[in-house]
Amino acid sequence: MAQEARSLDTDLLILGAGGAGLFAALHAHKAAPDLSITVAVKGLLGKCGCTRMVQGGYNVALAAEDSVERHFMDTIEGGKWLPDQELAWKLVTLAVERIKELENELGCFFDRNPDGTVHQKAFAGQTFDRTVHKGDLTGIEIINRLAEQVWARNIARLEEYRAVELIKAKNEEAVSGVVFIDMRTGEYVFVGAKAVLLATGGGPTMYKYHTPSGDKSCDGLAMALRAGLPLRDMEMVQFHPTGLLAGTHTRMTGTVLEEGLRGSGGYLLNGAKERFMPQYDPMAERATRDLVSRAMFLELKKKPSPHGGLYISMAHLGPERVAREFKGMVERCADCGFDLAGGLVEVVPTAHYMMGGVEFAADCTTALPGLFVAGEDSGGVHGANRLGGNGVANSTVFGAVAGDTMAAWVRDQGLREPDRAALQAAIARCERPFMNSNRIDLEALRERLYETMWQKVGIVRDAASLESALAELGAIEGELAAGSLPDLQRAFNLTWHDWLNLMSLTQVSRVVATAALARCNSRGAHFRADFPDAGSLEQSAYSSYRDGAVTMKPVAFTRVRPGQSLLQNAA
Ligand SMILES: Cc1cc2nc3c(=O)[nH]c(=O)nc-3n(C[C@H](O)[C@H](O)[C@H](O)COP(=O)(O)OP(=O)(O)OC[C@H]3O[C@@H](n4cnc5c(N)ncnc54)[C@H](O)[C@@H]3O)c2cc1C
Repeated sequence: MAQEARSLDTDLLILGAGGAGLFAALHAHKAAPDLSITVAVKGLLGKCGCTRMVQGGYNVALAAEDSVERHFMDTIEGGKWLPDQELAWKLVTLAVERIKELENELGCFFDRNPDGTVHQKAFAGQTFDRTVHKGDLTGIEIINRLAEQVWARNIARLEEYRAVELIKAKNEEAVSGVVFIDMRTGEYVFVGAKAVLLATGGGPTMYKYHTPSGDKSCDGLAMALRAGLPLRDMEMVQFHPTGLLAGTHTRMTGTVLEEGLRGSGGYLLNGAKERFMPQYDPMAERATRDLVSRAMFLELKKKPSPHGGLYISMAHLGPERVAREFKGMVERCADCGFDLAGGLVEVVPTAHYMMGGVEFAADCTTALPGLFVAGEDSGGVHGANRLGGNGVANSTVFGAVAGDTMAAWVRDQGLREPDRAALQAAIARCERPFMNSNRIDLEALRERLYETMWQKVGIVRDAASLESALAELGAIEGELAAGSLPDLQRAFNLTWHDWLNLMSLTQVSRVVATAALARCNSRGAHFRADFPDAGSLEQSAYSSYRDGAVTMKPVAFTRVRPGQSLLQNAA
């Protein structure tokens, strides 16, 4: 049965209500209060996405002894010389403005030193302790205040609205709006907009062990992919070293134990309870995430803990100090039966963040006029490895930039006539499982996806594993596309949404595996057992995926070259 979409219009449409989406809404509203702004989100505004889950904190150069140049160099070196230097510079300089805005205008309270200055803690891969935080539950403070500010303004909200396709304009290479499923009723809605922001937060939830919130399934990246936009650095999937390994009976497995634990002196032990990190890297547990995760992956193959992981141990720092400084973490572990302050907790590297995403310019424009991107859906800020604490800085900094840019851009734009055939094709794609006759078991397909990505496109890859993964991913996508689901009711049909989630994840997984196959060296989060060398830093190239093909493009060293430092240049 042909389905029609109900229509709504807005000037500015924001997809996602994390740090990027909410900052964009607030900045656009401040710049142009007369514009109609709509935030559409798969979950409930203020309650979903990963910004709310931020534990450790926000990197920003505030202290007199620190500098934006130093933050920049840490970001470039941590990213193994693959970050786009103009994006990284914007990140470190505007983070200073955003943290002040968060405290002074939006009402956040971050932890302070006895002298009243903002407390900044150690995070791995930093040459200066610059992570601003609120205990170890920083994201709740940020998102609660942002959500209150959005509610207090005349900003429209479409909650439990799932974006399923970007629709281009009729006869024009520009965006005209987005097709949604209103999850509460199951009906299709087309929201026409002069400008659309993609801020759905990526999220590598295609791996067996992962940290991001359950509402994230790479929908934004999958929509960008289908719209033919270039995606960069897609092979760069960050594994956080310390995911909780609580067993197969609980969804808490994979949940992250924050980086500050290692930053403050926590030890990693193998199954024989021996400390091993000093043998792998001089920075030991404080090395960057890629190095620690890889060392752990090798160590857990040799001497695993009972559930196939390793241990984190904090007791030598004093259980009282640990309980005081990491209250949230201690409580979370206690919920799962572990004593973080005084005992050992089983951990495993867990897929945490996608450095890759839609290629974009420093003003958040993309290759498709009218489409803007910010936050974890975008690629290029972090290169081969994101420093802990640079994620929420990225989403808030570029969310604000996007809001400012979009407010100015829509001034001389009108609504565009949508390509009706594309709109119908998008609906037909979503309707597929109700038109087919082959009943499928989504749980079994999900397990296949998890295992394929963890075993073959995970922390250590090689050509054979990647080629095998691509064949398996193609088969999974084929089975999903040909499979049928019971058409019982459309309102809150979670099986249907699971099918849509798996479709997005499988399509994006294929891009990750294809980009990983194209990069014949090992940089940051990407390690090829068959090409273990990092390659020449001077010849650094990033991967750009478009329409099934990967092109390696040279990194432009616009501010500093390998072997140089901005600190020396400044001096
Ligand atoms: C457990 C955990 C801890 C972390 N700790 C830190 C930390 O200490 N420091 C740090 O810097 N970073 C941390 N990060 C990373 C950080 O959370 C992210 O980098 C950042 O918050 C991403 O912001 P965002 O706005 O891009 O996406 P999110 O905040 O994830 O928001 C995405 C939004 O998009 C919505 N959405 C998704 N799909 C759709 C769709 N199809 N249609 C409509 N809406 C959709 C979601 O519901 C959500 O509202 C952590 C991440 C996790 C998972």
